[in-house]
Amino acid sequence: MGGTGQPDQSGTTTNSSADTADKIKETETSKDTSGSSENPDETINSEQTAVTANLPVSSNKDNWALYVIGNDNPLPNDFTVEVKTVAGERTLDKRCADYAIQMLNDAKSQGVGLYVTSAYRSIQYQADNLQNYISRLMAQGYTKEEATKQAHKEIALPGHSEHNAGLAMDIVSNDYWSNHSDLDESFDKLPQYEWLINNSWKYGFILSYPKGKEDITGFIYEPWHYRFVGLEHAKKIHEVYEATGEFLTVNEYIEQYFSG
Ligand SMILES: [Zn+2]
Repeated sequence: MGGTGQPDQSGTTTNSSADTADKIKETETSKDTSGSSENPDETINSEQTAVTANLPVSSNKDNWALYVIGNDNPLPNDFTVEVKTVAGERTLDKRCADYAIQMLNDAKSQGVGLYVTSAYRSIQYQADNLQNYISRLMAQGYTKEEATKQAHKEIALPGHSEHNAGLAMDIVSNDYWSNHSDLDESFDKLPQYEWLINNSWKYGFILSYPKGKEDITGFIYEPWHYRFVGLEHAKKIHEVYEATGEFLTVNEYIEQYFSG
């Protein structure tokens, strides 16, 4: 199989991490979090109330946010998105940025310090990151072919990541990087993870890559990665979780609610 480009239907896909880019850590590693101090908008709260009131909540209007991005569904090469700042230098598609800002502000006001370690990443950034990693492996003695194969296992291809769409954020605790050198599964032991699971749906975000769903998503379990699907869809997906303990992936949700 040639990397992760064309997984078949039998679940033999090699799962990659969507977030190896973050493991290298993006250049800005400030521990200052939640973005409020750097947000240029001083009247954020009053504006948000107004914006939220005007944001679409019906399924039909939220459907724009449901598109699947993954190994089988890359973004087009000419994909562009208008982004808006959500925290520090982190940006998201402006259609979901206000929801993210509200979530971060509400978490902060509840004493839960969240740190957005990555959000929108351009396809070019993803391509550069992949190339840098291949170069690094070659410097360690891999042939170009081996390095490319290995890199494709670990890093989402350009255009294959929800980050490229501006819909996803990687969120950890304020002090996460003081205790970890990497994004890893242990994040799900932290209270910040609990808060995200219990609250992110209220702002239209869901856990994209749940444990046990690796064959469906094509990505490893990523308890730090949250993706916008809109308020109503996130609510339904959360209701399934409350009832069964299962996190539906976007693919599964679309199949269950929109097929036939
Ligand atoms: Zn991510």
